[in-house]
Amino acid sequence: MKTTARRMRQAEQALEQRRAAAERQQRQRRDIACEKIPALAALEQQLAESSAAVVSAMSPGQDSSEFLALLAKQNAAAQAERARLLQAAGLPADYLDLRWECPECHDSGFVRGRRCACFGKLLQSLAYQELSMDTPLERSAFELFRLDYYSTQPEAATGIAPRKAMEGVFQYCREYAAHFTPRAKSLFFTGPTGLGKTHLSLAIAKAALERGFPVIYGSAPNLLSRMERDRFSRFGESAGETEQALLECDLLVLDDLGAEFSTAFTQSCVYNIVNTRLMGEKPVIVSTNLNPAQLNEKYGERVTSRIIGNYMTLRFFGGDVRQKASGRG
Ligand SMILES: [Zn+2]
Repeated sequence: MKTTARRMRQAEQALEQRRAAAERQQRQRRDIACEKIPALAALEQQLAESSAAVVSAMSPGQDSSEFLALLAKQNAAAQAERARLLQAAGLPADYLDLRWECPECHDSGFVRGRRCACFGKLLQSLAYQELSMDTPLERSAFELFRLDYYSTQPEAATGIAPRKAMEGVFQYCREYAAHFTPRAKSLFFTGPTGLGKTHLSLAIAKAALERGFPVIYGSAPNLLSRMERDRFSRFGESAGETEQALLECDLLVLDDLGAEFSTAFTQSCVYNIVNTRLMGEKPVIVSTNLNPAQLNEKYGERVTSRIIGNYMTLRFFGGDVRQKASGRG
């Protein structure tokens, strides 16, 4: 099935689930309210009957305007009484209203016969999910980050105690995630392998996603090879789609930059991503085992100077101790 048709169907299903969830939650709130307020059930019944009466009074060829006006009056009185009862019981007056995720289209996906903006957002987030699906997020929450893996002893070379340094890095990342906006600063995570760069960059991605921001995350080798595949795709539909998504999303996490098989194409992609997102003030989190000198060697001065000059650099410490703790080399 073509990508677009498949995503359209998935978006329709997502809307269907939103509508079902809104109705389920409304029923749950109604149960809670009826338990607190014995008079409410009868009032709800009355409201349901009057809307049924409105429907049957609307049959063609019948002048029912007087009857409908009377019903409307009764209905308004019953609704006011319901709001009063709810508030007297300490609940909000609109407690029993359906709560749609999209107030514009009531989760139908249409406003006056046109596609609602929320439908476009859904399609976009489905495309982003597909780009990010090679990298699971479950194990990368902030709560699962282990500061006790890092030594409290200062390193001989730097005189810095990894635990102390990493406490600062961890705190910075958690604050960054909690206050993330699409205009947040870009971050540059640098340090040897196995020190938690991936964990913390994905924890930020996870937190930003949970707050509803469109995020793409993944390893540089993966995302760059997808870009290459679809740039040269013969199917017009997806040509350039990955590149566009990587340039437009609110947050891009490019993990393990430098691990990709380097070609003129990947190098120009990295420059394009770094430069375009910088011009658009859109944040990127780059993590890499390369130090700035190695970065310069691999991508040249124009990429390196943009990263070093504009990103917040976070150095990851720990090396030996972490390798022992995890049993990895
Ligand atoms: Zn909508």
